[in-house]
Amino acid sequence: MSKIRFTALKETLNRVPVEFQETERRSAYFGENVFNEGTMRQFLTKDALKGVLNAIQHGKKIDRNIADQVSSAMKEWALSKGVTHYTHWFQPLTGATAEKHDAFFETIGDGLSIEKFGGDQLVQQEPDASSFPNGGIRNTFEARGYTAWDPTSPAFIYGTTLCIPTVFVSYTGEALDNKTPLLRALQAVDTAATAVCKYFDKNVKKVSASLGWEQEYFLIDNALAEARPDIIATGRTLIGHSPAKGQQLDDHYFGSIPSRVLNFMKDLEHECMLLGIPVKTRHNEVAPNQFELAPIFEEANLAVDHNSLLMDVMWKVAPRHHFKVMLHEKPFKGVNGSGKHNNWSLSTDTGVNLLSPGKTPMSNLQFLTFFVNTIKAVHDNEDLLRAAIASASNDHRLGANEAPPAIISVFIGEQLTNVLNELRTVTKGKLSPEEKTDLKLNVVGKIPDVLLDNTDRNRTSPFAFTGNKFEFRAVGSTANCANPMTVLNTIVAKQLKDFKVEVDVLIKSKNLKKDEAIFNVLREYIKSSRSILFEGNGYSDEWMKEAEKRGLSNYRTTPEALKAKVSKKAIDLYQEMGVMSQVEVESRYEIELEEYTMKIQIEARVLGDMARNHIIPTAITYQNRLLKNVIGLKEVYGERYKTLAAEQLLLIEEISGHITEINSKINLMVEERKKANKLQGYKAADAYCNKVKPYFDEIRYHCDKLEVLIDDEIWPLVKYREMLFTR
Ligand code: ADP
Ligand code: MG
Repeated sequence: MSKIRFTALKETLNRVPVEFQETERRSAYFGENVFNEGTMRQFLTKDALKGVLNAIQHGKKIDRNIADQVSSAMKEWALSKGVTHYTHWFQPLTGATAEKHDAFFETIGDGLSIEKFGGDQLVQQEPDASSFPNGGIRNTFEARGYTAWDPTSPAFIYGTTLCIPTVFVSYTGEALDNKTPLLRALQAVDTAATAVCKYFDKNVKKVSASLGWEQEYFLIDNALAEARPDIIATGRTLIGHSPAKGQQLDDHYFGSIPSRVLNFMKDLEHECMLLGIPVKTRHNEVAPNQFELAPIFEEANLAVDHNSLLMDVMWKVAPRHHFKVMLHEKPFKGVNGSGKHNNWSLSTDTGVNLLSPGKTPMSNLQFLTFFVNTIKAVHDNEDLLRAAIASASNDHRLGANEAPPAIISVFIGEQLTNVLNELRTVTKGKLSPEEKTDLKLNVVGKIPDVLLDNTDRNRTSPFAFTGNKFEFRAVGSTANCANPMTVLNTIVAKQLKDFKVEVDVLIKSKNLKKDEAIFNVLREYIKSSRSILFEGNGYSDEWMKEAEKRGLSNYRTTPEALKAKVSKKAIDLYQEMGVMSQVEVESRYEIELEEYTMKIQIEARVLGDMARNHIIPTAITYQNRLLKNVIGLKEVYGERYKTLAAEQLLLIEEISGHITEINSKINLMVEERKKANKLQGYKAADAYCNKVKPYFDEIRYHCDKLEVLIDDEIWPLVKYREMLFTR
């Protein structure tokens, strides 16, 4: 056995779980390391507290004096907890999080020093971040970008560092991160939704989007992961024959959690609690070694920050338990991949979930208004939602019969379908008193009862209504939720804005009553967006055909899917809603294409190296062994060797066949790579997608065949059966 595989396996077999004891009630220390309202009340003056709360709740600017007070209070709090450094924590367009730590410590001359953290340092920083992707907005020789405090997401302590959530923008004002457009989209949906809410309740002053993500992930032993060059470089396995036992028996889903894993989960959840991430649910997923963690939902910006932070914390906690956490959408061929469902809703500052039916016909009309407008928004912008979840790694999952297809559709359940069908037949213009009564009592009035037994949950739908929220299920497990959340909130904002205009026109020019006008507009929306509704099996071939007939897009690859991002319609939409400028949209498109190209390029290189440096030499070694055996048999038995060595001779040829194929396919792949490297932007991504990537499966096929032919003793790579099935 190769030394590295042997050592890794030995290490794994000797593992003892690293116990993690939960000693305290979680509620006793939840948010202990967060500069939240409770902590602020302790450390801030009344004025400063009011300033910050005004900024959080009403988007008011924080003046210098208040910022100085806040920074000084933050410093006192942080020092009292043994913190030495602070950082502006932000989410550059790499999808990860970034931080550069500065010490509070400063010298003041005469050999003296103090701990200092002023308002200036809290509010704005200039990281030397010239190597973050910026899509050409911020050339390295131009003005640098800066980070600016986002008071709506509280500062927190991680390790010995005070982390201040910030946006990252260029000096010319363009967003260079994931958070800035999200905040703008949330502002847009607040404005548009609040205006619509006023039809139903004049007291509503603010509408917030909520997000509850569900994070899926794999855990494998660290030693085994370290022994696989593909996992280290690409986060997934590029080679590996599927094990005899995979997920056929469905015995992992919701099964009992192995103790090593449970210790990891407890440790992770402990860290989450300290950081104020309200994690609630944990369980095994479908695939062996696959798990899920979900929190209680929060305001969308905070939830996005918390998910980014969680992914980071997972990376840090896993090694303590000798695990590697794999967030990749498809780490193992033949077993299910991972996603990150984004549960989304809108709620008012008066405490109403706008996607939850109420108790009165009027509150149900409000529910229907937001429900139908969301469906219409998805219908009109399905291609943008598809683009929002496109990535090289998510391409493996979408449409692979384990995750939603690449076609966006909306599932609403049978009962709500019936309600919409009834609303579709509402009379145009003024309604008769009878029709109004009928609508109120028998259609709109019945909704809460209806939902109670609306239990059929269609798991194959990418965008499903699940009783009091929509669940966007096509988001990938590595994704930063900011991107899909920005798109969803922007399209809903635009839709609600248009809706308000249409209803007002009917009220003013057609002299309709408010509810009549609303019914009239909703009726037209239901008619025009019907093609996005689908209740059947999203994995089926019939749906592919049906969706095509309906004119829904079905982009199987990232380069294709991303195009929608830069259509005129999309750019106009982002500009109108104040979410992104044309330059911002286009630079993001460039960055995503480039990221795609780089990812496939790296995979191609790693695969080529592994096949040439690991697989082929092993195949030759084994072949030589067989040849020696054949020669020996010939020496001893003379001509009878042909019968005695029949199997060996066949094997020798079979191995040669695979070696030849691997070799020639790698050569062809390298040729295509060279051609692709001369291209740029979309053309490069397209070439990597359609010319280079197809060789992956071919090369892998022959490597995996060799894995089952060659003596297990000398196989150099840790096998699937060894990596999966952690005890
Ligand atoms: P599933 O059956 O899909 O696993 P769960 O009920 O376990 O669904 O959890 C779904 C997620 O939806 C949880 O994170 C929960 O907090 C979240 N959620 C519930 N209500 C809302 C809401 N109004 N807005 C956003 N997310 C919500
Ligand atoms: Mg879910």
